[in-house]
Amino acid sequence: MAYECELTSADVKAAAKRFGADLCGIGNMERWEGAPKQNDPRYIFPGAKSFIVLGFRIPRGSLRGIEEGTLFSTYPTMGYAAINQVWGPMVMWPLCNYMEDHGYEVVPLINANGGESVNTVTGKFREGWSRPVEEGKPHPDVLVHFRIAAYLAGMGEFGWSKVFLTPEFGPRVRFVVLLTDAELEPDPIYEGHICDRCKQCVKHCAGKAISMNESVKITLAGHEVEWGKLDEMACEHGLQGGADKSKNPFETEYPRQYGYGRAIEGACGCTRACMSHLEERNKLTKTFRNKFRDPKKPFWTIDRSKPYEISQEVYDYYVNGPGLEDHKAMTEYNAKENYGSAAAAGISETPTEGGKVNAAGLTYNPMLD
Ligand code: SF4
Ligand code: SF4
Repeated sequence: MAYECELTSADVKAAAKRFGADLCGIGNMERWEGAPKQNDPRYIFPGAKSFIVLGFRIPRGSLRGIEEGTLFSTYPTMGYAAINQVWGPMVMWPLCNYMEDHGYEVVPLINANGGESVNTVTGKFREGWSRPVEEGKPHPDVLVHFRIAAYLAGMGEFGWSKVFLTPEFGPRVRFVVLLTDAELEPDPIYEGHICDRCKQCVKHCAGKAISMNESVKITLAGHEVEWGKLDEMACEHGLQGGADKSKNPFETEYPRQYGYGRAIEGACGCTRACMSHLEERNKLTKTFRNKFRDPKKPFWTIDRSKPYEISQEVYDYYVNGPGLEDHKAMTEYNAKENYGSAAAAGISETPTEGGKVNAAGLTYNPMLD
């Protein structure tokens, strides 16, 4: 069958934006030369000529509740999982269909962990996890590094934090990747400088995960790239409410007491502090009418020194109004009638290390302070 026309990069970018992507960068597959076999997308689609990276902004307001210390669910959902697993795929589907209708094959890769033979957190190879289907091939599954893909598609640079920064949104972006046999004009590698090495990301990182001075350097498409050394496990603990490299003592198996997402610390250093700094210095092209934070005013962080207490205002309103929930009754209900969730959630009558004891004598998650 003959196709009406070949797609150009401009066509693909226009379609991607029309379908809902905020950013679109394109690279050719040769730019992956030198990638470790286990991370090389050319093993996924040997016939691919180009890769397309779509960027989706993290709404600044999705971080607001954590910034104020009043709502912890919106960033993990609307700023994180829903972009990776709902919005990204919803935009990829029509783009894939559009390209298929022009005769091209497209492999859509979303940011979701599957059976990768490389641990997505530590980057370590998982011994005994899988074996190559034939000699010369990498183990299934090949794990493509999305931030490296974004760099190779000319969309911005790595910040010291190792978070990818774009000139439009700074650190507020998530990515999906598409591999295609369409031969598309690649974007130039980004040569600007967004990160000024202010190290606000290090200073405010809840998990103490980013090194102040040690760095990692790699070469990508002939360009030397550097970022601060990241302790991934410290980050894993920090983003889930742990502190100073320790684990949140209430992080247990689902359902958790604070159970609707992992990133409840709201990327305090690598995203919030960084974004705030870059906005203050007018480094980003997408601007707002109002500042995210007042740089002179200290912003909210978890205060682990104070005991749990209900403020008089809440007590007056709820006791005299709709009433206070009986924590113990709720715990018992969960344990007996709601599939035993309370036990797994870390609400316990026995003190938990690192936890705090509330008025009802139950230990609770300090993130609820
Ligand atoms: S906070 Fe500063 S040093 Fe860290 S990534 Fe952002 S701009 Fe770079
Ligand atoms: S997500 Fe949190 S813990 Fe991880 S690097 Fe960013 S600020 Fe640090």
